[in-house]
Amino acid sequence: MNASSFRRAVFDQAGSASFDVAIVGGGINGACLYHHLCSAGYRVLLVDKGDFASGTSQASAMMIWGGLLYLSTLDVATVLRLSASRNRLVREMPDSVQRLKFRYISARQGGRNLSFVHFVLYLYWILGFCRSERPHHERSFSEASLFKAGGLQDSLTYEEAGVAISDSRFVLGWILPNQNSHNIPINHCELVGGVYDESEGMWRLDLKDRLCRDEFSVRARFMVNAAGAWTDSLNARFNMETPFRHVLAKGVFIGLRRSPELQIPVIVDGGRYSDCLSLIPWGPISLWGPTETTVNDPSSGFAVNPEDIRFLLSQLNRHRVRTANAGDIVSLRCGVRPLVVERSFSGSGPTLQISRHHRSWRDSRLPWISVYGGKLTSCVSLARKVLEVIMKEVKPSLPAPEEACSVELEQTTFAGLSDRVPSASWCMQNELCWSLDDYLRRRTNISQWIPRGGLGEKDENLTQLKEIANVFSNGDSARADHALHAYRQKIRTGFDSVLATV
Ligand SMILES: Cc1cc2nc3c(=O)[nH]c(=O)nc-3n(C[C@H](O)[C@H](O)[C@H](O)COP(=O)(O)OP(=O)(O)OC[C@H]3O[C@@H](n4cnc5c(N)ncnc54)[C@H](O)[C@@H]3O)c2cc1C
Repeated sequence: MNASSFRRAVFDQAGSASFDVAIVGGGINGACLYHHLCSAGYRVLLVDKGDFASGTSQASAMMIWGGLLYLSTLDVATVLRLSASRNRLVREMPDSVQRLKFRYISARQGGRNLSFVHFVLYLYWILGFCRSERPHHERSFSEASLFKAGGLQDSLTYEEAGVAISDSRFVLGWILPNQNSHNIPINHCELVGGVYDESEGMWRLDLKDRLCRDEFSVRARFMVNAAGAWTDSLNARFNMETPFRHVLAKGVFIGLRRSPELQIPVIVDGGRYSDCLSLIPWGPISLWGPTETTVNDPSSGFAVNPEDIRFLLSQLNRHRVRTANAGDIVSLRCGVRPLVVERSFSGSGPTLQISRHHRSWRDSRLPWISVYGGKLTSCVSLARKVLEVIMKEVKPSLPAPEEACSVELEQTTFAGLSDRVPSASWCMQNELCWSLDDYLRRRTNISQWIPRGGLGEKDENLTQLKEIANVFSNGDSARADHALHAYRQKIRTGFDSVLATV
């Protein structure tokens, strides 16, 4: 069956069913909630207007933090909560979340006092129930050779956790095992409208397939808006009022070729010149960032500007022995943090002070829940909270969740990568993967690890990308050419042109 007939069959199935819950938004919040509802026996529909994890959940630092930042405001309750969430993910999902050692280095000039930071890290360790390795002082370490002698002090190491493979894969891990005759995840499918039918006690939701351009409707008893940075605009479209809203903070990382000396993530405290920035090893690259700047609407927040890159390079070159320039950048990574505030919030300063808490709000009139804020780290506690609200109002309609059957992974090689990756045809058949971008960005890390979105510095991987495009076009060469052309155009505008003006 080809992609369009598969999708049409799914739309027919979804259109004739009546769901207990429909979730809009397949980022980490929607995905984790989807898993929890399916496991509790609910019949659930999950839709995303792009690919799953194509919003902010593909652009994070991929860290599972215990909330160290909150110690600066003595918010001990949040540290306890986040540390418990981190420890639970490490314990219950050892294949997806792994313990990770971090190195903190502070600037000599104006940086924080190392003994004080050591004390804070020790307190953090205790608040994390002493489950991790005890923080300690290290004078000699492999990453030291990357930084200018004299500029930075000794290091302190402490333990957090991080997701394995990527944040997109972490999101997909909650969704893909829950595809069956009752529970339907559909990507590239946008919620464009809908009404609540009081007499029937059901939402009728209008969906638009962005790949085949079809439109269809589904029915659901309960609706959850987990649209991340788009939550407020979706609520406005349905006339939903909430006591919360989002402040949007854009975050950019640049991906640079990784030096072998970089073995663990390094947090560089820039002292009086800047906030902390991180150099995070990730496969063959290292991520440097992130920035944090306020944006007014999501669309402007998902594009990297030359100023973002200039800022990150200048901060890196203050510390690094070897000067980096735009030509050293392998990939760019950009997302919009949806930060929850009270609707009356009027602050306009730096968003770093805004809490990264999550909130959910059940509308008083209609069965509609809006999800605000949140992090990868707190996805389970948010999902459990929303599940609790739904359980009070809707009974699960399925006797027991269907067992997921595992299919043997088919792997292949990609030029320039030492590790094998899942093949494009396997991803299409098993992982709802429909395009070059879905495959290169979220089913594999190719577009982040190989220069210019996987094309290579001089388009040397064009033939391999054409073969992959052919898979998604079912061998229709003209369609594959068109898809490849569109992908190259995206790389020219979103990468080449941006770097050319740095
Ligand atoms: C630079 C950066 C670094 C970060 N680092 C970390 C970290 O290390 N650890 C951590 O825990 N958190 C981190 N975060 C925060 C974390 O990534 C986000 O809080 C989280 O990914 C937000 O998830 P979400 O599901 O709310 O939103 P998203 O991932 O944006 O998902 C929302 C989805 O809704 C879909 N959607 C919107 N409107 C519609 C519609 N009408 N119909 C259908 N679908 C729709 C979108 O396509 C999107 O996929 C970081 C964030 C940034 C920006």
